[in-house]
Amino acid sequence: MTHALPLLVFSDLDGTLLDHESYSFEAARPALGALKAKGAGVILATSKTAAEVAPLRTELGLSDWPAIVENGAGLLESTADTDAGAYHDIRDRIATLPPGFLGFGDMTDAEVSGITGLPLVSAARARDRAFSEPGVWTGPDAALAAFLAAADRAGLHHRRGGRFLTFSLGGTKADRMQALIDRYNPGLTLALGDAPNDTEMLEQADRGVIVANPHGAPLPRLPGEALGRITRTTLPGPEGWNAAVLALLDDISLNPKGPAHG
Ligand SMILES: [Mg+2]
Repeated sequence: MTHALPLLVFSDLDGTLLDHESYSFEAARPALGALKAKGAGVILATSKTAAEVAPLRTELGLSDWPAIVENGAGLLESTADTDAGAYHDIRDRIATLPPGFLGFGDMTDAEVSGITGLPLVSAARARDRAFSEPGVWTGPDAALAAFLAAADRAGLHHRRGGRFLTFSLGGTKADRMQALIDRYNPGLTLALGDAPNDTEMLEQADRGVIVANPHGAPLPRLPGEALGRITRTTLPGPEGWNAAVLALLDDISLNPKGPAHG
């Protein structure tokens, strides 16, 4: 089989390609440049919104590639889909649930800035949602399970990643990833992530890299690690990303046909 693309990389942003605290990707520039030189594609796969990802994707020089946004609930093509129908539907369903959940749609830009540490303009982009509603649980811990069960009955999917509880109508990073693999038919896929919401993506790629995040609980050991298909970085965030990608590119150039799949 011939592949139009040698390598397609799927990468989480926060705590993976972006530093957990500074949101900088400077340390990953060498690897980003090397990927471009090899003709590899890079798909950002994130909990962020299309409005947040679009300017970042431009800064990263990745505007030629789609991005998986809102944890896989949507896809940002070269022109963003601004249909917010799904978002309003999700908000309406959440309104029928027992109290205790405070969503981004219930907060001001300043409040979202306060809980995320994002600058105000970025917080406004984070609130400009189309496919999912993140927020925080403010009720008693004991009431959370009943709340999530009610959300399930209302047809809402939930996901807990890092700081937030996020509702959508379904769709995961891994679902979107498979659709993009079908579209681009790459010779090899690599996924990088740091948190539980990256697990499916890490398991689905030919190679997975768990980027160390000293600020979050460590990911439990994944099945792919026993097979050596998934590895962990020692360096955090973009430093770890850079080292892992450069190591993989070295490995591919030594073994041009790539590792055995499967
Ligand atoms: Mg992350």
